[in-house]
Amino acid sequence: MQFHHHGYVSGDPRVQAAAGVGINRPTDIPDEVDVLIVGSGPAGMLAAAQLSQFPGVTTRIVERRGGRLAIGQADGIQARSVETFQAFGFAERIIAEAYRITEMAFWKPDPADPSRIIRTARALDDPTGDISEFPHLIVNQARVLDYFAEFMANSPTRMSPDYGYEFRGLEVTGEGDYPVTVTLLHTAGTNEGQERVVRAKYVVGADGARSKVRESIGCTLAGDQANHAWGVMDVLAVTDFPDIRTKCAIQSGTGGSILLIPREGGHLFRMYVDLGEVDRNDNRSVRNTTIEEIIAKANEILHPYTLDVRNVAWHSVYEVGHRLTDRFDDVLPEERGTRTPRVFITGDACHTHSAKAGQGMNVSMQDGFNLAWKLGHVLEGRSPESLLSTYSAERQVVAKNLIDFDKEWSTLMAKKPEEFEDPTELENFYVNTAEFPAGFMTHYAPSPLIAEPTHQSLATGFTIGKRFKSAPVVRVCDTNPLQLGHQAKADGRWRIYVFADAEVAGAQSPAADFAEWIANAPDSPLAATPSGADRDAWFDVKVIYQQEHTSVDIGAVPEAFKPQVGPFKLTYLENVYGTDPSADIFELRGLDRGGVVVVVRPDQYVANVLPLTATTELAAFFAPLLRSGRTAAV
Ligand SMILES: Cc1cc2nc3c(=O)[nH]c(=O)nc-3n(C[C@H](O)[C@H](O)[C@H](O)COP(=O)(O)OP(=O)(O)OC[C@H]3O[C@@H](n4cnc5c(N)ncnc54)[C@H](O)[C@@H]3O)c2cc1C
Repeated sequence: MQFHHHGYVSGDPRVQAAAGVGINRPTDIPDEVDVLIVGSGPAGMLAAAQLSQFPGVTTRIVERRGGRLAIGQADGIQARSVETFQAFGFAERIIAEAYRITEMAFWKPDPADPSRIIRTARALDDPTGDISEFPHLIVNQARVLDYFAEFMANSPTRMSPDYGYEFRGLEVTGEGDYPVTVTLLHTAGTNEGQERVVRAKYVVGADGARSKVRESIGCTLAGDQANHAWGVMDVLAVTDFPDIRTKCAIQSGTGGSILLIPREGGHLFRMYVDLGEVDRNDNRSVRNTTIEEIIAKANEILHPYTLDVRNVAWHSVYEVGHRLTDRFDDVLPEERGTRTPRVFITGDACHTHSAKAGQGMNVSMQDGFNLAWKLGHVLEGRSPESLLSTYSAERQVVAKNLIDFDKEWSTLMAKKPEEFEDPTELENFYVNTAEFPAGFMTHYAPSPLIAEPTHQSLATGFTIGKRFKSAPVVRVCDTNPLQLGHQAKADGRWRIYVFADAEVAGAQSPAADFAEWIANAPDSPLAATPSGADRDAWFDVKVIYQQEHTSVDIGAVPEAFKPQVGPFKLTYLENVYGTDPSADIFELRGLDRGGVVVVVRPDQYVANVLPLTATTELAAFFAPLLRSGRTAAV
């Protein structure tokens, strides 16, 4: 964490100095805003938290509830999300309070007496141990939202959600600087019942499965006609079921099934009791299933074990189908290429899937991460508006793949034991596809933001289009062993990792030539950085030498990797790394010993892999993504 560079900070350094629109931030929503986010679920809160790092951008997030979410909804947090939380600075704290999944147990009817269930298998959650250094967690959605709220309150823009506003409708007028007119309704407070009109440059619909923003841009969710229903209960209970603190898939001889999710805190657990497919004409009668019926069904499935529920913290009938919209923004197919979007939809507003693969909250957050930095870059004048068209193109494919995966998983979960040709089919599927539910199978296709894999062979462990997978390094200046990926914060910056050739720092070498180019060449992406800003304001350039840290002479390291920062022009030394001899990043990630440049997007996806000498290619990659910043606002 970099602080004190503007002068001594005596308080919590996580509270960044207020800047830009965060100075004297008005309590009431202004009549005109740059970005209006609708809905404070995981998608909206992550988008808001990312935009809170752009002090020049007025972002407001409205929510129809009167206050924070208290309980319920999703609880599965995949490793990719924890990795994302690391960038927002709260991974360690949420890990400490969450339940950690390490294994899953599978229970099935006893062949000798199908009225009883027995444990038939256990599967490791991360069978190779290599999916991520981060764990798979269970913690209530409300806590995730709390952490994002804290992050944005501490950010330069001092943001907080505007509770008590319901989105009613919008019109893209196309007129003036704020071409989207949004009508809101006060749902709480002294103005309850009154309408409010706000004009925005961009609107983000993060308003869940029944999204009104989606409706207002003429999108519909298409997919299965039927919903699948689960009785969901978060309960405290006394039971003789031995795996009550282990994640379990339980199938009974009668065909009933339970997904058991132990929860944070040591006592609470969630049970999803399968209520089956619900026809559209069911008239929502499944929703009348009572908690008593859910508990009775759970006891039936668990036989011979029993469940004595002492306290019900939350319960619901969660009814959801596999549905997807064909676009995630307001640009109609026939308009593509002729205009850029003004309205976006994220999360459940554009894709819904079963709770069984624990994806809803996770994928929704990644939608928010993908979109928000792009909005920040366009609104701050770093990038052209065309950047915004990549959001729908990238995320719609991810959602489609997820729905296909989820259909397969939930079909398997719903199968009766006698319907399996191979009795280990369910656990094999779980193990073989572990990387998917962990959130690491997102692989963006080549686009203006993702290069063709021409030079992929130089860095086989950093797949272009996939998320940058961290590995250990040792920081030279303070000799600290660290994870390289964890040094990347959600600050909206591009990252350029320079993995040096075999020469030592200070020698004439391709890495030294690259350093000279990136620092001084007119076609270097850094040349776009506004003249008044720190040299690392838009690009975080890090170097990793092949030698151990003790063999790197920090004084000989080129200036490009030691930017001068803050009003005192202090030298920032923390971007220079050596290898960890017990886990050499060059070996672990298949990095060419001749050196390689790895470009990573602000949302942590690898955008390009290039030889150190390919400066022309690197300049050409960034040219369409950057406006000349010499005159742009900081
Ligand atoms: C009642 C419920 C129970 C769920 N249970 C489970 C579960 O058991 N397991 C699971 O994995 N997933 C569950 N989910 C789904 C999971 O919570 C979502 O996949 C995830 O939250 C999606 O995030 P999101 O940000 O897209 O939408 P949401 O989390 O749904 O957030 C949308 C937000 O928008 C607000 N909003 C909606 N309309 C408006 C409006 N017109 N104006 C202003 N604000 C508005 C809502 O109040 C809400 O805060 C549940 C969802 C709901 C709604």
